Amino acid sequence: MAKKVIAIDGPAGSGKSTTAKLVAQRLNFLYLDTGAMYRAITLKVFENGVDVSDEKKLEELTKNSVISFKNENGINKTFLDGKDVTEKIRGPSVNQNVSFVSMHKKVRKILVEKQKEIGRKNNLVAEGRDTTTVVFPHAFKIYLCADIEERARRRFLELKEKGIQTSLREQIKEIAKRDKIDSQREASPLRVAKNSVVIDTTYLTIEEQVNKVIERCKESFGKVS
Ligand code: C5P
Repeated sequence: MAKKVIAIDGPAGSGKSTTAKLVAQRLNFLYLDTGAMYRAITLKVFENGVDVSDEKKLEELTKNSVISFKNENGINKTFLDGKDVTEKIRGPSVNQNVSFVSMHKKVRKILVEKQKEIGRKNNLVAEGRDTTTVVFPHAFKIYLCADIEERARRRFLELKEKGIQTSLREQIKEIAKRDKIDSQREASPLRVAKNSVVIDTTYLTIEEQVNKVIERCKESFGKVS
């Protein structure tokens, strides 16, 4: 039977990660964090001192990388070439460089193929920039959005909790910059896919967001679990 795919997209800080993880858990679907794949490649680029504008080197590095996911005691872990990089890929150097790595078509082509392969084998909730448009165009599509101040506030709190020093103003600036690069880039820009269900999360709690998404999936798939 064809596998079911729910694809969740939206700008940074719209709550897509938390929502996607919880929806996957509730429906017993696999959670596919495509952003973590771009982040893992960016970490490797950074650690190897590769120039982010050298597409040939980036392509080679991406081809020679093994990215995998494992759920350990309810925590979704990301592995790069067998090493746990879950924490490292959320650090400031990856945050600042990931948009420059992910804009390269050759990097995207390799990662998109890896993502499609996972989707052929599993019922999944996929999250990320182009999952609704390029990777899984036939998926049930959700686009989460929220005001930029609220998105920056969420990112600020998340970083603060991890002990990373920053300010709300800095986060507004960083998110605005990422929004701009991600929506203006040539390869798979951030946009609302046709037939997406758009949910504004500015005034919603996580619980409310998750319930809303599941409700809409059930309306579309019938009984999903
Ligand atoms: O979703 P997350 O914020 O972890 O994504 C980090 C970055 O990875 C994004 O800002 C974007 O540049 C890139 N990305 C992408 N395509 C995806 C997922 C993420 O280009 N499907």
